[in-house]
Order: sequence, then structure tokens, then C-alpha cells
Amino acid sequence: MPRRPILIAGGGIGGLAAALSLARAGQASVVLEQASQFGEIGAGIQLGPNAFHSFDYLGIGDRAREGAVYVDKLRLMDAKTAEEICHIPLDEPFRRRMGNPYAVVHRADLHGIMLEACAAHELIDLRTRHTVLGYEQDGRKVAALVEGREPLTGSGLIAADGLNSAIRAQMVDDGPPRVSGHTTYRSVIPTEDMPEDLRWNAATLWAGPKCHIVHYPLKGWQAFNLVVTYHNHAPEAVAGKPVSKDEVRRGFEHIHPRARQVIDHGKDWKLWVLCDRDPIVDWVDGRVALLGDAAHPMLQYLAQGACMAMEDAVCLGAMVADHSDLETALEHYRARRVVRTARVVMGSRLVGDYVYHPDGAQALVRNAVMGARTPQEWYDRIEWLYGGNGLDPL
Ligand SMILES: Cc1cc2nc3c(=O)[nH]c(=O)nc-3n(C[C@H](O)[C@H](O)[C@H](O)COP(=O)(O)OP(=O)(O)OC[C@H]3O[C@@H](n4cnc5c(N)ncnc54)[C@H](O)[C@@H]3O)c2cc1C
Repeated sequence: MPRRPILIAGGGIGGLAAALSLARAGQASVVLEQASQFGEIGAGIQLGPNAFHSFDYLGIGDRAREGAVYVDKLRLMDAKTAEEICHIPLDEPFRRRMGNPYAVVHRADLHGIMLEACAAHELIDLRTRHTVLGYEQDGRKVAALVEGREPLTGSGLIAADGLNSAIRAQMVDDGPPRVSGHTTYRSVIPTEDMPEDLRWNAATLWAGPKCHIVHYPLKGWQAFNLVVTYHNHAPEAVAGKPVSKDEVRRGFEHIHPRARQVIDHGKDWKLWVLCDRDPIVDWVDGRVALLGDAAHPMLQYLAQGACMAMEDAVCLGAMVADHSDLETALEHYRARRVVRTARVVMGSRLVGDYVYHPDGAQALVRNAVMGARTPQEWYDRIEWLYGGNGLDPL
């Protein structure tokens, strides 16, 4: 077991999960967050059953279950006709098969639960205003180079610093993330502002030509999360820019008014232009490893980026517990995570193209094929993803 703490760059969901998982293995860590406060954006997040495997491993299962809304189904609607294409029931048979429920939560609530657990743990040291610029290592220890401060030394360094990871830039040097050209707008509204005929207990996806709308309840049904996306070939990455409702409306004029009304009910819309990267194999350099979006940023179409970051954390802690030499532990971590996460990155792109955004004949094929599946057939197709626990390599 390495004696010095392991440094973790980034205190998002991935970084905090990594700290909790290492603590479970008896390993101290120091979380270095660039912002002046730990926090998450004000929006919802879907949690597949695999997230609950991770919560239990990290010791926050009960708290995470308390704050979640358990949706009854994943519902796919045709945004042109306003008819249901299919739904996947998330009731008892689903939970039995996957080992856990499917739920939606507010990101800030989830992050808050993790932060509280980290702050209460004696093996976790949380520091804000620490921007990690890069690293040096000598085979026995790692120095994190921190902006405007002396370097910090640890036995290892975990890069949980997200999509634009500085550590990845040094380690992999594969340029900026790939800009997808898909623009996403997000809003959270009180439930009373949600059209009554759409207050469904479902994670609902309206799929239309080059656009889609997602909505689901949040915060014990006090709020609804709205996410609408338009494939408008936006050329540059953008994160969290406030925009007017008129700008949001622009990409959705061609879909059914029943779906489109969601945009009118949203407020304080913010814009993101989504990015991902091609999967890579080498995430580890000696005592330094990538985790979460720093390792495998993905489009949101399988709703799994944070779930994968937490699975990474579970695997990291388990490997550190199993291998006394840190470099060996990190290599085992990498080997167990590469294929599964690459599958999710690639699957997210495919689902975006073939389920979320097709038109014409492709959309008819989607409707016919997906509409014909039984719940049993759905469960067979998705069990690899939702039944995972971070330790299975696929
Ligand atoms: C529209 C949208 C919807 C999504 N929906 C879902 C969903 O439903 N389910 C799901 O599982 N996932 C979803 N995701 C993906 C998910 O949000 C991310 O995969 C996840 O938040 C990644 O966590 P992370 O901790 O790896 O990175 P981040 O959340 O990006 O955290 C990185 C942290 O590191 C800090 N940081 C950055 N650089 C430095 C530095 N140099 N030094 C120190 N600190 C630094 C940042 O301030 C931040 O706190 C969605 C993503 C998008 C865009």
C-alpha cells in the first residue's frame, strides 16, 4: 500500500468518487480542485443501475437512494408525429435483472452527498483553488505542478480534471476534444411550469430529425429537467453560455407542437456544444492515470459519462486494495476499464445517429425495429451496460 497520499486533480463526480474509493482501500488522497468552491452545474442527471452498484461500493448508497426519483420507464417518442415509439419498463423485473433501479437526480444533490462523505473522511483532504498544470515523476513519487503554488508530492496522481484535462494533454498529447456539432440547451423548471400533459414519471426522449428533447422529473417531483439538442454543426466547444428562448426555438420548428411546447415552458436556458474523443488505450503513465471524462469523454446519448466515471473510481480503489505496488495497480485499472468505456463512447455516438436524430426511411426503420422489441429483448440488449459494476472488463 503506498504511504504517501495519492493526488487527485479535479473535484467533480469522478474525482470525489475516486477519493471515496481510495479511502475504502485505506489509501489517503488529496483532491485538488481549480474552482473556489466544489460544486456541480444546476441540472439533472440520469443514473443507470450501474451507478447504484458504485454508490454502494463507495458507501453512499442509502443517501443516493434517498434523493433520487425512480422513473417508471425510459420512453421514446417520435418528435414528428408525437406518437410513442416504444418504452422500456423500469419496474421490478428490470430491477431484479440489473440488480438495481434506474433513477434521476439533481447533479448538485448528488455531488453534495459525495462532498459530504469526502469531508467526513479522515483519509481525504479537499483543497480548492488548486489548478493542476501538469506533473513530473521519478519512479517513486509524483509532483503535481500547481498554478501559482509549490508543487505537491504524492505517491500517484489521478487526472479527474474533465474534458479539457491538462494532465491528459501532457500524457497523451492528442489535441483538443472532437467537437460534435451538436448544441444542447438545458433548463430546470418548477413542476407547475411543466405542461400538465407531459408530467410523466419517465425519462422521456422525443427523437426528431437532427434534434431531440429530453425531460424527466427531479427533486421529489418539485422540478423538471429539460435538455434539448440540435445538430446544427456548431464549430466550437461552448460550455454553459446563457441564451434566449428564441435562439433555442430555432432548431425545433420542424417537430410536433406537443414536443415543441417544452421549449416555451423552459427558462434561463444555457447552451453547450458537445464534445467527445476517440477512445484510446493508454491512460496510464507510470504513477499517473486518467479517470472519467479526462480518460473517455463521451456524448450524452447513453447517459453514462458520470456513471462510467464512478465505475472507474470503483475499479481504481479495488485495484489499489489488491496490489501493493501502485504502478501495477494502475495498470490493472487501465486494463479493466479500457474496453468497456470505449464501447460506451462508441455506442453513444451510434445511438445519437441512429436513435436520436434520424429522418425519413432511417427514422421509419428505427420506429419499426425498436417498437417491435419486448421488455425481455430490451433487457437482454442492455444488461451488459446496466448490470456492470466497474470491475467487469466489458
Ligand atoms: C448534456 C449532458 C448530459 C449528460 N447527462 C448525463 C447523464 O444523464 N448521466 C451520466 O452518467 N452522465 C451524463 N453526462 C456526462 C457527465 O456529466 C460527465 O461525464 C461527468 O460529469 C464527468 O465527470 P468528471 O468528474 O470526469 O469531470 P467533470 O465533471 O468535468 O469534473 C472535472 C472537475 O475538475 C476540475 N478541473 C478541471 N481542470 C482542472 C485542473 N487543471 N486542475 C484542477 N481541477 C480541474 C473542474 O473544475 C471540475 O470540478 C452528461 C453530459 C452532458 C454534457
